[in-house]
Amino acid sequence: MRCQRCSRMLSFWERLLGRKICGECQRRVKDALAKYERYLEQMLEDHCLIPEEEHRLTQFQRQLGLTDEDLAPIKPKLERARMLSAIIMGNLPVVEVPLILKQGEVCHFAAPATLLEERTRREYVSGSRGVSIRIAKGVYYRIGATKGYSVPVREIVPVDNGTFYITNQRCLFVGNSKTLSVPHRKLVSYEAYQDGLQLHYEGRRRSQYFKLDDGELAAVILWSVMQREI
Ligand SMILES: [Zn+2]
Repeated sequence: MRCQRCSRMLSFWERLLGRKICGECQRRVKDALAKYERYLEQMLEDHCLIPEEEHRLTQFQRQLGLTDEDLAPIKPKLERARMLSAIIMGNLPVVEVPLILKQGEVCHFAAPATLLEERTRREYVSGSRGVSIRIAKGVYYRIGATKGYSVPVREIVPVDNGTFYITNQRCLFVGNSKTLSVPHRKLVSYEAYQDGLQLHYEGRRRSQYFKLDDGELAAVILWSVMQREI
């Protein structure tokens, strides 16, 4: 049995372990793969893999002597990058949904979501009771008593569970008790998180938060839809 990469005779131990390539080649592949992955990460800083970068990746793979099989461990990462890139470049997925859509409306994203809202709660801070001194029988005088007061406390609380949709016309949330539908032209800004989206709409003082499993995907789809709208 010889190493499938360098044709060197495999050692007794390597044969015993059922290796197809020698230890030396195995180390080389591991190092090359790490280099390839770093190169990929650099390219993905902008979350997008343009055709030019794909071409450079292929060249780098060849230069490193990596086969497609060698790339298997980072295939999920590569595939996700390709999927997000296609969306950024305007290739939006179309999702069939059980919704009554408007004319010309197409849904691009649908996922389970939790709606969260900013609330201001007033928290009561109790005052000091002071010290009671008995002056005469049945008469008490209170020294140093202060009234209690309340302070505003801002918090983001879950409000409802449901499904969050992004169509070419609006963002929609259909929950167990609430339904929200806001056209994209009313969207002033949005913030993307790994696990959600924060949307800020015109005429609304407070943002809405949607907790999602894949906030990155939702953000990329929303971004791409907005580019088209403009
Ligand atoms: Zn070898």
